[in-house]
Amino acid sequence: MSTDTKKLEGGEQNMPLRRFPQTLYLIDHITNSSRYAGTVSRQGALYSVPLEQFKRAFKTSQKHIEKEWAALATSANDHISKLDLDRLKSKEGEKPTREDALKVVDGLLGRFTTLKKKIQESKDEEELYAKRSRIRLEHLDELLSLPSQESAGFTRWSKTQLDRILVDYMLREGCFESAKNLAKEAGIQASFLQLVDVELFEQSKMIEDALERRSCVECLQWCKENNSALKKMKSNLEFNLRIQEYVELVRVQKSAEAIAYLRKHLAPASDIHLKEVQVAAALLAFEPDTLCGRYKTMFDESRWDQLIIQFRAENCILNTLTTQPTLHTVLQAGMAALKTPMCYQAENQNVKCPICIGHVYGALAEKLPNAHHVNSCLVCRISGEIMNEDNLPMALPNGYVYSQKALEEMALKHDGIVTCPRTGSQFHFIQARKAFAI
Ligand SMILES: [Zn+2]
Repeated sequence: MSTDTKKLEGGEQNMPLRRFPQTLYLIDHITNSSRYAGTVSRQGALYSVPLEQFKRAFKTSQKHIEKEWAALATSANDHISKLDLDRLKSKEGEKPTREDALKVVDGLLGRFTTLKKKIQESKDEEELYAKRSRIRLEHLDELLSLPSQESAGFTRWSKTQLDRILVDYMLREGCFESAKNLAKEAGIQASFLQLVDVELFEQSKMIEDALERRSCVECLQWCKENNSALKKMKSNLEFNLRIQEYVELVRVQKSAEAIAYLRKHLAPASDIHLKEVQVAAALLAFEPDTLCGRYKTMFDESRWDQLIIQFRAENCILNTLTTQPTLHTVLQAGMAALKTPMCYQAENQNVKCPICIGHVYGALAEKLPNAHHVNSCLVCRISGEIMNEDNLPMALPNGYVYSQKALEEMALKHDGIVTCPRTGSQFHFIQARKAFAI
């Protein structure tokens, strides 16, 4: 390796950022600002995603250029030595002709042109990510220049933020058309599209779709492109994909191919995954409908779903994205203030409480702690309204308490008769008594 190449490798880690001092200044300025610190702290992915993409694109193009440059140098030296006029003879013992020399020059020229095109493509890609980083940081910087949260500018900034959160959610759910439409609608300025990661999720969805179609090829290619980052993460995704390809060969009883695949792709990993490789080898002796637990699991179709989940999670880590949508995070922040133990008790649910809608928000709030309420209040089971001096709590003869307004409304509709929603018992409204909480 040449000295220049070594120098390049030594500075590799900081190279992408060093090329953009303005970006470094903006990150420092934004993260050190105490005002809006909470809002900014939730925006990590906004500026880190394009920076990660930039670093990855830079490393990939650097590797490619180094490899191609070395190959070109070797090839050129070979050809020149073959055409050495001092020797006046080609390898085959014949004098090289002018046509031979031109052919060699044409070949080298073609490879140089391809390399030049590749360098231009890499440059364009790096410029795209650099531009995106700058736009995103300027978007955050705009927040810091706002005088207060009551200003019109803050409302406008928050609206963009909400659109971003919604687009992010749609992209993660695979609703690309809706996401693009919303992005276009929200983006009065074309720069809005630079604030959302459409291409990233499109590529991710393409790989997930391939896995759903039972194809590992695309995901293996992704593993190859991100090999060093996945190694740092100690990821076993590539090994799991290889196991799955092997299992599919065994499933269709292509034993010879399966053995060749095992030797080529799984055996080299036996120093780390010895047990799994041994189980995989023994799988050849079993039919797909086997009842033997360990091997039955290997043939299980749900392994494909596990691969999708693993890919999705590792793709998020690699791109510094949160594993759950930002929409869930912000909703959970609000839900943590509402959640009570009553929300999960069918007989005590409140018609106006979002957490009590179990299948939607209730599921999202399941792992959150209950809200800490210093002062509690009584809420009517029928209307969901608070019971106080304006809407007195009324006890029915069976002991259950409801709000005066809800009972009056029910009595008006049913000739003075009220029905307890918990027990189904019916009473006359005048049997209800004012209740007092001590
Ligand atoms: Zn509730």
